[in-house]
Amino acid sequence: DPNSGFCSKTMTFHSLRSPVSLPPESAPISFTDFFFFMLQSSPPSPTAVVLIDATTRRRILHTELIFRFENLVTSLRTHFGLSKGDCAVVFTPNNIFTPILYLSLLSIGVVISPVNPAATAPEIHHLIRHSKPVIAFASSDSAHKIPLLKHGVVAIDSVEFESLMESPSEKTENRGIKVNQSDVATILYSSGTTGGIKGVALTHRNLTAAIAGGMRPVRSSPTVVLCTVPFFHVYGLVFSLRSMVSGDCMVITGGSRSFGLRKMYGVIYEYRVSLLALAPPLIVKMVNDTAIMDGYDLSSLEAVLCGGAHLSKSMIQRLRKRLPKVKLAQAYGLTETTGRVFSTMVPDETQVEGATGKLLPNCEAKIVDPETGAALPPAKPGELWVRGPLVMKGYVDNEEATVGTLDSDGWLRTGDLCYINNEGFLFFVDRIKELIKYKGYQVAPAELEHLLNSHPDVVESAVVPLSDEEAGQVPVAFVVRQSGSNIDESKLKHFVAQQACVSPYKRIRRIMFIDSLPKNASGKVMRKELVIKLSSATSKL
Ligand code: AMP
Repeated sequence: DPNSGFCSKTMTFHSLRSPVSLPPESAPISFTDFFFFMLQSSPPSPTAVVLIDATTRRRILHTELIFRFENLVTSLRTHFGLSKGDCAVVFTPNNIFTPILYLSLLSIGVVISPVNPAATAPEIHHLIRHSKPVIAFASSDSAHKIPLLKHGVVAIDSVEFESLMESPSEKTENRGIKVNQSDVATILYSSGTTGGIKGVALTHRNLTAAIAGGMRPVRSSPTVVLCTVPFFHVYGLVFSLRSMVSGDCMVITGGSRSFGLRKMYGVIYEYRVSLLALAPPLIVKMVNDTAIMDGYDLSSLEAVLCGGAHLSKSMIQRLRKRLPKVKLAQAYGLTETTGRVFSTMVPDETQVEGATGKLLPNCEAKIVDPETGAALPPAKPGELWVRGPLVMKGYVDNEEATVGTLDSDGWLRTGDLCYINNEGFLFFVDRIKELIKYKGYQVAPAELEHLLNSHPDVVESAVVPLSDEEAGQVPVAFVVRQSGSNIDESKLKHFVAQQACVSPYKRIRRIMFIDSLPKNASGKVMRKELVIKLSSATSKL
């Protein structure tokens, strides 16, 4: 059916959007080559403000962005001797210079490895073993967590960093560096579909596909966008690159840890923000505290872009009621698909309640029965598989996980239970995988179970998600105690929380003791049963 993009012969959904022209795969065109090609096709005015830090009120004009980018590229090469294939960790809350740093590193073929600044020192040590960076760019208050690296740590909020962007020690041409589309551009950390943390390798072609084409979400242009999502997550990383290439003005809030609703509404009013990019927990806050909204003029807001986790129908309805003129655009994707792969793009598409948009250009999708592996027709729920230029190269140094996620035909198994309706809209049903999403952050049950099981009073444990209106999901543990032990919930929670590798967002919120864990014939814990048990226990409260 041409209207759904579904081809029953191949049992695949093809994108209904016009294809976007990408360079041939073998062409030696790096992401930054493509970026500047696109930028030049509709360049912003030299005096256009392209970046604003809402906390410090600092502004960067388009010409200044280009000037700083060029100087930084030269400094990175001459001052630190960075070159193609090196890796750089970026470890900072959103900073006005992070997008310029990303672009500069990519232009010389340095692999970017952004890490959540909330990560603890042991977590960073663990991640660094994968990406093997030679340098780190960190906020001054988190630099101490980085271990010794060849070129050390540069504080991104320091005078030293600013001077790297102002006057490079000597001029060099960016000659001699040939970056190919298949070269790795960034390593992002994800728990993927099977538990432990893995480095997702995205290529220059992946990033090129992510910024290519007429992918403006529902808004008019030029646009002032407020980016509340972190640049260390694929959503923020790609969003920041796309914003720069579109010539938008991007307002950044990340430097301030106390950025509440009042400040956010104040910023929307002050800068006449037309597009607000966020993840579901912020929508929950907005609709639960509408009294705060009443005090602000939000008339500039045309669209809200929400992605990264599931947004419930009731939240969508409440937001619509509160902001009837604002279009709600949704996006679905994974780190492994370079961010969004289904998205709402035109106003009409926002009318389909509960849908997370249609397939992006150049991509294919399949819905597969998780039991039998058979591809399913429209409207039938099954595991979503996707294929195309947005799909990752693989997991770094983890062949087993790569093979388990990407099949030999290039299909990526998302681990999500979804269906695609007759018009090609995606509806997310549930996660097949075990991952818990706390405020958009990934919490891997296996990691917490490992810690719990290391306690001498614990026989075994299973960590499952509990739905939570504000956080989306919170981790809750079922624990089997050693016989004779009477260790209680608070002692065990404390034991986990005090472990150096447990960031605050990973903390176990509740522990329930149980005689034995339900398991299937092959010994796998039946998590669904625990989830049901948990929801019946919590509904009785
Ligand atoms: P991450 O790699 O951190 O981006 O996590 C990817 C996972 O987030 C997906 O596999 C989905 O389970 C979930 N996700 C992302 N976007 C959405 C969405 N719009 N609706 C429901 N779940 C989503």
